[in-house]
Amino acid sequence: MEDYPRNLSEFDARFGTETACRAYLFQLRWPEGFRCPLCGCSESSPVRTVLVRCRKCRHQTSVTAGTIFQDTRTPLRFWFQAIWWVTTQKNGASALGLRRVLGLKQYQTAWTWLHKLRCAMVRPGCDLLSGRVEVDEAYVGGLEEGLRGRKTETKALIVVAAEEDGAGIGRIRMRLIADASAKSLHAFVEESVAVGSIVHTDGWAGYPGLTDKGYVHEATVLKGRKESPSELLPRVHRVISLLKRWLIGTHQGAVSHKHLDYYLDEFTFRFNRRTSTSRGKLLFRLVQQAVTTEPATYDAIVRKTRRRNDSPKLQVVAR
Ligand SMILES: [Zn+2]
Repeated sequence: MEDYPRNLSEFDARFGTETACRAYLFQLRWPEGFRCPLCGCSESSPVRTVLVRCRKCRHQTSVTAGTIFQDTRTPLRFWFQAIWWVTTQKNGASALGLRRVLGLKQYQTAWTWLHKLRCAMVRPGCDLLSGRVEVDEAYVGGLEEGLRGRKTETKALIVVAAEEDGAGIGRIRMRLIADASAKSLHAFVEESVAVGSIVHTDGWAGYPGLTDKGYVHEATVLKGRKESPSELLPRVHRVISLLKRWLIGTHQGAVSHKHLDYYLDEFTFRFNRRTSTSRGKLLFRLVQQAVTTEPATYDAIVRKTRRRNDSPKLQVVAR
């Protein structure tokens, strides 16, 4: 049962009140009916308008507790407007754009909302890629070419996985990595690709050993061939060039290194649902994932990104 608005007027008619937004969250979080998060009991009674109390253990909870909407002081209908706007933007959402559309006073508020929503877009360990999957790394940003596996000042190293779907591309996953070591690359493959799948890479030394982890590893070595890497792993390189174009188009090419992971998640969410005929369905999916995603506060987002590194603004250059 996938229930979502087909267009803006349906959206407006449906999500105009807190009660309606809350009911929608309830339906997506507990599709089989309420379950107490502590004891699993399905009997509950309402407490005031927002809380529900378990009949058995008397634990009080709300539909937003334990989700990205937890502790929000903003009415849910603004959140829904933000989600609608994010999912209906053809090329992606910027904090400036969201701030303008919702009339938010603070840029930081818009930025935090976007980052909270992005946390719900790609959930590590869920919806793993399978079948035949191409994997390769790439540098994003900067004018000079990076040496493989080396850190550079202006570039970020990312790793990308793309499912083969005939001659086309299936689903993708990507993330920022500290280096091109076996440790970094294997960790990415393990959280993105289902065991038993065929992982197709080039001959880089960071990939062998995947077989021990339950994958079928197929390496195509460049040496002695006329093809370029993009011809050997065409899908992953097509994805990388689309990503670079998107970063330039939506974010004017200036994305901070430390926030790049979030942008990669948004790109992945959009890409994996690119054939979806309805924008309303994207809203449905994002809300569905948002109510099963742990809350992240502004402080946590900033801390997480600070821990990674404090790097300069990344200039993305099209190739
Ligand atoms: Zn209970």
